[in-house]
Amino acid sequence: MALYNLTMNTNYFAVKAALQNNASLCIVSKYRTTEQILSYYEAGERLFAENRVSELKEKAAVLPKDIEWHLIGHLQKNKVRDAVRYAKCIQSVDSYALAECIEKECIRQNKTMRILAEFHLAEEDANKTGMRYEDAFAFFDACKKLPHLRLCGIMVMGPHTEDTKRIQAVFTNAHELFVSLQERYGSTQVTTLSMGMSSDYPIALACGSTMVRLGTCLFE
Ligand SMILES: *Cc1c(COP(=O)(O)O)cnc(C)c1O
Repeated sequence: MALYNLTMNTNYFAVKAALQNNASLCIVSKYRTTEQILSYYEAGERLFAENRVSELKEKAAVLPKDIEWHLIGHLQKNKVRDAVRYAKCIQSVDSYALAECIEKECIRQNKTMRILAEFHLAEEDANKTGMRYEDAFAFFDACKKLPHLRLCGIMVMGPHTEDTKRIQAVFTNAHELFVSLQERYGSTQVTTLSMGMSSDYPIALACGSTMVRLGTCLFE
């Protein structure tokens, strides 16, 4: 315990205080060692995320089995098999074709999978992955045909900028989308607004995020 604590970062306590009981912490462990991950595991954290399936697979194999792994990076169809095998939730579902592919693999593995729809709401970075605001209802409606998926919310990335107002505008939009999805599909189904990274998580929390995904600020 004492050894692990050496690698813990004091930002952790600020993060926990900021989250209170309103939002959950998803620790982004990409590029981190198993020792670094275990330091947070020892502190009681169980929710970790990777953005690459290969790294997820390697880490899931050696780390405690009660870790809940989320996939947050772009998922290619040829990686869906391992993603379904090792992830508890795939946050980065950015098309209906991918959702269908996950459904098929879930049938094969006799599993259900939690997913989030990834939205791209920042106007600039046009080459970024993710659906657009106007695709939301069609995607949620279509997913009703995929009984092995539990679509439980959305994942959003803030714009790459230091401009707080612009970040806030995107996150406010995302929250509005989240609320309209809750109104339409029910807040029992739509529970998760995954929004906020190291640089912008206080803004995300102020805008109603229910889950922040933090890497850098916890490990550096
Ligand atoms: C890497 C990553 C994060 C964490 O970013 P930090 O700036 O390290 O906190 C969050 N979400 C996604 C999708 C990522 O790829």
